[in-house]
Amino acid sequence: MSEDCIFCKIVSGEIPAQKLYQDELVTAFRDISPQAPVHVLIVPNEHFANLGEMGDAQAAALGRIAHVAGQLAAQEGIATSGWRFITNIGADGGQEVVHTHFHLLGGRPLGPLLTRS
Ligand code: AMP
Repeated sequence: MSEDCIFCKIVSGEIPAQKLYQDELVTAFRDISPQAPVHVLIVPNEHFANLGEMGDAQAAALGRIAHVAGQLAAQEGIATSGWRFITNIGADGGQEVVHTHFHLLGGRPLGPLLTRS
């Protein structure tokens, strides 16, 4: 648990979120500002700044995240239509919340991966 980390506080229940799934390793909840009809965030319960800070020692959590992503895509009805699973890292990656998280997005055509800025 990292003090002042909003996602740590969601994991612990200190602040509310629309949780879709939680176990001993990972937590999934709806993004507060959805960018698509389905926009779920999946995070490791343990605090890491981003994916670059994780490695072999976190294989179980990362594997669980992948598994839960597939399960939630099915649950949300987008397993067949398709979905995107992304993680932003650092400033150029567009990361705003400094706790590893993966965006599960779908429910409409998501367009190209990158847009010109
Ligand atoms: P990123 O830009 O990859 O760091 O994404 C951070 C995401 O967290 C954004 O899509 C925000 O809308 C989302 N977010 C921030 N605060 C909350 C919150 N309290 N509950 C749910 N999602 C949040």
